[in-house]
Amino acid sequence: MSDQNFPTGTLMAGKRGLIMGVANKNSIAWAIARQLAAQGAELAFTYQGDKLLRRVAPLAESVGSDTLCDCDVTSDDQMDATFNTLKDKWGKIDFLVHAIAFAGKDQLAGSFIENTTRDGFKSALDISAYSFVDAGRRASEIMNNGGAMVTLTYLGSERVVPNYNVMGVAKAALEASTRYMAADLGPRGIRVNAISAGPIKTLAAAGIGSGRHMFRFNKAAAAMQDHTDPMGVAGAALYLLSDLGLSCTGETHHVDGGFHAIAMPQETPLRESLEG
Ligand code: NAP
Repeated sequence: MSDQNFPTGTLMAGKRGLIMGVANKNSIAWAIARQLAAQGAELAFTYQGDKLLRRVAPLAESVGSDTLCDCDVTSDDQMDATFNTLKDKWGKIDFLVHAIAFAGKDQLAGSFIENTTRDGFKSALDISAYSFVDAGRRASEIMNNGGAMVTLTYLGSERVVPNYNVMGVAKAALEASTRYMAADLGPRGIRVNAISAGPIKTLAAAGIGSGRHMFRFNKAAAAMQDHTDPMGVAGAALYLLSDLGLSCTGETHHVDGGFHAIAMPQETPLRESLEG
């Protein structure tokens, strides 16, 4: 992440919401949390288990939050407890950030057709796509009119990326879910959008086979010929979750240095990058 400060202001003043998916300071959800806090948002966080609590608690504290909920999204009891905590503490919320995905390492390498198992498929789709539907429904029950939700997706949903495999299928389901959720919640004044981020070095990205090649290729082939900056993703989330994003819903917004727009990259930077 660039070490610029996140722009401060009052775009999120008076707004409260839940951030799901901070594992450490490199998490995309953490960049989003910092940007929302810098604009005055009050935040609650989920984490998975005591090991993660030790990492997430100091981060939460640094943005003035003491609301942390232990939440594995595959547990109905923990999801109930999380949203009950928010209801008891705040009554209503204004936004939800969903930055959660998982697939077994064995599913994220080699041949998609050979390596995708029934259990691997189910758990990738459950954790990476259904969890947004579930969290979104629960959030909407306590969400103010004018509220908004954002999830994180990747281009592997639209086109084939080697080794991304079942996660690409899960992201396609996540993006379709975003549109259906937007339609259901639109009449209640709640917006639902997805951000399709370019590759960023996080724990989740480290699980994908040939990650180094992926980062180098993306940098060389992107319109901006640079890596995706998490600050750009956080800025897009701020737009989509604040009143700046009024009337924008059901959208998958790419923040990837223009990688998605390029059919054929320029020869020189690509060759230098692949040979370098
Ligand atoms: P990250 O820091 O590893 O965050 C992933 C989060 O998902 C972690 O907090 C992880 O918690 C959580 N998670 C996994 N299984 C869970 C479960 N059953 N219940 C609750 N939480 C669970 O990686 P990230 O890259 O920031 O990922 C955030 C989102 O951005 C993901 O949806 C990812 O697909 C998406 N994205 C990432 C990139 C990229 O290049 N990094 C690009 C585009 C989109 P644990 O650590 O406890 O498992």
